[in-house]
Amino acid sequence: MEPDTLKQLQQQCAAHMQLEICNGCTACSLRCTADVPASRHEWQAICNHIAQAPEHQKQTIREILAQNKTISLGDDITVQMCRFWDTRTHHCAIYPVRPLACRLLGHVEWMPCPIQKVPRTIPTPLALRLINAYARHERKTFAAWEQETGTPLHTLLQCTPGPHTTRQESGNGPGK
Ligand code: SF4
Ligand code: SF4
Repeated sequence: MEPDTLKQLQQQCAAHMQLEICNGCTACSLRCTADVPASRHEWQAICNHIAQAPEHQKQTIREILAQNKTISLGDDITVQMCRFWDTRTHHCAIYPVRPLACRLLGHVEWMPCPIQKVPRTIPTPLALRLINAYARHERKTFAAWEQETGTPLHTLLQCTPGPHTTRQESGNGPGK
């Protein structure tokens, strides 16, 4: 039998996800730590999303990227947060194109919603098939992709595109 493709598995898993529950919630955003892995395809989608963003959205992304991402958890413990995590709103600057690891938080058995707001997770055998398919793809941190592809994010934020729309999803929480 032909193995399911990553895209097919993503679609099958998405059908089980109750993303509307995450709409606007940021309660799991402290999981938005640095060095989340992304596949080449995900990195390209992020670059396209940023390059095609209208100027006001680019300005917001510029401001978020410029924030100090080291946050204190008290007792001299600090954590480095994701470059796309907004320290003011706790929202994700690239929510519509966030990597798979971010999308699954709260929706799989091994990463349940930390506030028990998502009652149903993706069936574990299906979620594991997705992870196995995803794991066959090369994954790197955002910084590593920037270096390898020679595409520093600031270069995508420089020019102002003409009027157009960008992809949107409901929900602003890490939504993970
Ligand atoms: S998974 Fe995260 S965004 Fe969704 S409801 Fe739970 S805490 Fe909120
Ligand atoms: S949801 Fe967004 S801000 Fe959070 S770790 Fe993923 S890419 Fe970064």
